[in-house]
Amino acid sequence: MRSSLRCGALTRRGTSCQAPAMAGRTRCRMHGGTASSGAKTGNKNALKHGGTTHEAKELQRYIRALAQRTNEIIDEM
Ligand SMILES: [Zn+2]
Repeated sequence: MRSSLRCGALTRRGTSCQAPAMAGRTRCRMHGGTASSGAKTGNKNALKHGGTTHEAKELQRYIRALAQRTNEIIDEM
């Protein structure tokens, strides 16, 4: 255990953390060593259902135009 890489993060006591670092990482499990720690990048946590994203609005526009054209064709018949 002593030979494994230590975390080294600064603790509240002002000393460096001596917990073993996560495999392939430089920090321990308490100091951000886990793969997906912290908030998601960008603003992904604000996304609740994706109903008002750029892609969804574009799809709505397309469907609306398609329905409009369908009605025009029906009217011409
Ligand atoms: Zn640590």
